[in-house]
Parts: sequence; structure tokens; C-alpha cells
Amino acid sequence: MKFFDFHNHSTFSADGACSLERMLFSAEKKGLAAFGTAEHFDYDYKALGLTYENGRFLDEDSYFSTARALQKNAPLRYFVGAEFGFLEEEKTLANYCATAKKYQPDFIVNSVHVCDGQDCWFSSYFEGKDKTTSYSNYLKAVRKSLDAPYPYHIVAHVGYVSRNAPYADAKIRYQDFPDLYDDILSAVIEKGKILEVNTSARGAGSAFLPDLDVLSRYRALGGRKVCISSDAHDEHRIANGFEECAKALFSVGFSVLTYPTPEGEVLLPLDEF
Ligand SMILES: [Zn+2]
Ligand SMILES: [Zn+2]
Repeated sequence: MKFFDFHNHSTFSADGACSLERMLFSAEKKGLAAFGTAEHFDYDYKALGLTYENGRFLDEDSYFSTARALQKNAPLRYFVGAEFGFLEEEKTLANYCATAKKYQPDFIVNSVHVCDGQDCWFSSYFEGKDKTTSYSNYLKAVRKSLDAPYPYHIVAHVGYVSRNAPYADAKIRYQDFPDLYDDILSAVIEKGKILEVNTSARGAGSAFLPDLDVLSRYRALGGRKVCISSDAHDEHRIANGFEECAKALFSVGFSVLTYPTPEGEVLLPLDEF
């Protein structure tokens, strides 16, 4: 059995390092069975007046026309997706709904990057907040994101706040926020969404996000839908850490990985990895 990796970024995203053609070429070389790009739709950034260092944002028309053309002759199954950066703001949500309708991405990844008006990747987010406050504010935003009105499939990188947090012990743990996590996990299950296990954990103190404590709880609550994504922003990171992650998921009782495609969900048995 070969892996799928659906959450990747090319240079269509402001922070991507490799062209879409290069990403597809490398994905096939790495032996993946299917590949997806989820380029950044930063309507959260735009609404808050935030920018990338290079000042770029996604050219949506160019992305979809290029990606749809590549999809026809891709060296492996390729799905054209989108990562929507959630912001609880009426106009932003309406814009995402309109974009989902206009471009009909093959799948949508729902993400929380901004909280309290800032991207919680940056140190400014943590200023004047202790760990409990900065992490619980983020988790509350994640819970709100699950009620987004656009048709998303995957709940991305829960625990993102810990990726670049300034604490000596940055790890975000279920036991520290059991009620907030239970709220999130129950909503993911109730809404039938897929919980992403993201192997781009960076400084989070875990090999992947969320970690096994959260994933075990998700399973105990009845959660069965998980997928593994690398969130690669360059060709070298595609599918990084997948085998270790698959083994860990299997060890806590998950039996399949679930991926959303326009033809319906595809299940990959975990005991084959
Ligand atoms: Zn993200
Ligand atoms: Zn991403």
C-alpha cells in the first residue's frame, strides 16, 4: 500500500519553495499513490491586514487553471485542494463560501492560523500571555472554526499554536485542556470531518500534531477518520515521517486512513504500512 499526502504547498502559496510541477514530480518519485495541494487562501490574513514577508498572496485563477491542466496528465493521482485560514468574521466566511463555489476544489482543509488578531506562529502572539491563555485561546478558535459554513473536509494541524511557541516545554497536552479538546473532537466526529495528523510539527515537542494523547481520546470518543499529511512547503518534506506516524496510529487502534476525493472517501488500511 502506498501513502497519500494531501496537504502540500507549492510556490502558488506565498511561503512555498518549489513549483507545482516539481512537487508533483517529487511526490511520484517518493512513491506516493496520490498527492494533493492545499494552497493558502489567506482571507484571514487579508481581513486582519496581515502580510507575508514577500507581500505575496495566492493568484487563485492562475492556481486553478494551472493545477487543473496538470491534473489531466499528472504522474500520479493529483487532487487540487485549498487550505482555508479560518477567521470568525462574517465577510471572510462569506468570501470563503463564494470561493468554494466558484472553484470547486477537490477538497478543502480548514485551518486556524490566526487567533486574537495575529498568526500564532509569530512571537507577537504570545506576548503578555501565559501558556494556558495562549493555548486555550487557540483551542477555542479551533472549536469555532468547526462551525464554518463552507464545505471543508479536513481539520488541519490541531495544535498549530505549539509549533513555534516560545516555551521551554512547548508541548500541548490533552490533560491540560480536556474540556476544550473534548469539545473539538466531539464536533469533528459529529460533523463527519477528517482529523488531520500533520507531520510538520516543528518545535511542538511531538513528532506530529495532534499527538497520540489527543488522538487516543478522539478514538475513545468514537473518532475513526484520520489522515496523515506532511504540510510540505518544499519537495524534500513530502510524506516525511509517514511510516512512523502510521505505525503510531495503528498502535493506538486506528485501522484506516481516510482521504476525501470528489468520488467519495478513500480508505487506506493502516496495517499495510
Ligand atoms: Zn496551515
Ligand atoms: Zn498548510
